[in-house]
Amino acid sequence: MIACIFEAELRSTMNLIEDSYLYQGQRKTLMELLRAKGIEEKVLVAMMKVPRHYFFPKMFLQHAYENKAFPIGAEQTISHPYTVAFQTQLLEIKPMEKILEIGTGSGYQAAVLAASGARVYSIERQKELYDTTRVLLEQMKVMDVKCFYGDGYLGLPGYAPFDKIIITAAAPIIPEPLKQQLKVGGWMVIPHGEETTTMKKITKIAETEFIEEHFQEFKFVPMLQGKAK
Ligand code: SAH
Repeated sequence: MIACIFEAELRSTMNLIEDSYLYQGQRKTLMELLRAKGIEEKVLVAMMKVPRHYFFPKMFLQHAYENKAFPIGAEQTISHPYTVAFQTQLLEIKPMEKILEIGTGSGYQAAVLAASGARVYSIERQKELYDTTRVLLEQMKVMDVKCFYGDGYLGLPGYAPFDKIIITAAAPIIPEPLKQQLKVGGWMVIPHGEETTTMKKITKIAETEFIEEHFQEFKFVPMLQGKAK
C-alpha cells in the first residue's frame, strides 16, 4: 500500500530542499553512530558530503538520518546507512577508480561512491527508478555517476573492465559476466543469498582465479533477472 504514495516525481523536487544546519547536524550525529560501529574516517568524510535527505520523498524527510533502510517507490528501498558505509569501506576506493554498481535505486550509494573519488557506472532494472534517479543526480550535479537502464546480471561489457564492482541487491548467484568484467587485482562486494545475505568480497587474483572472504549478514531486496518496465 505504502509504495503507491511514492510517486517518482516526489523525489525529483530536491532542488527546493536545502541542506540546512538541521540536516547537517543530523548527518553528523549519524556519522558518529557509524564511527562507533567501526566505520573508518575516509568513508565517513564521503558520507558527510552527501545529503541523504535529497534522496527521500519530500514528505518523509524527517526519516533521512535514521540508521534505517527506507522505501523509495517501485517497491524498492534506499539502503541502510550502515550497509552503505560497510560496502563502501570494503571497496577501499582510490581516486578515479572505475566502479560498477548493480542496483542504482535511489542513487544514494552511487553518490557516496562518487564522493569517495570513484567514477561510477550504475545499472538499474526499473525504468521509473532509473528515470527519476538520473534526473536527481543531474540536479545534484553529481557528475561522476553514469546511469544505465538494464539488467545488472549482464553488467556493462562495453565499459569493462572495472576496478571494483558493488552489488546492492541480494544476489542468489555470483554472476559470471560480472566476474569477467573485473580487472585482475580488483574485487566485487556482493551480498550473496536470498533476502538475508552474507556480505562477500570476491577478489580476482588471475584471469580465472578468485578468492572469497565472508563478512556479516545483511538484508537486501532481491536481485531480479531481466529489465522491468
Ligand atoms: N544502491 C541503492 C539500493 C537500492 S535497492 C541505493 O543506494 O538506494 C536495490 C536496487 O537494485 C533496486 O532499485 C532494484 O530495482 C535493483 N535491482 C534488482 N535487480 C537488479 C538487476 N538485475 N539489475 C539492476 N538493478 C537491479
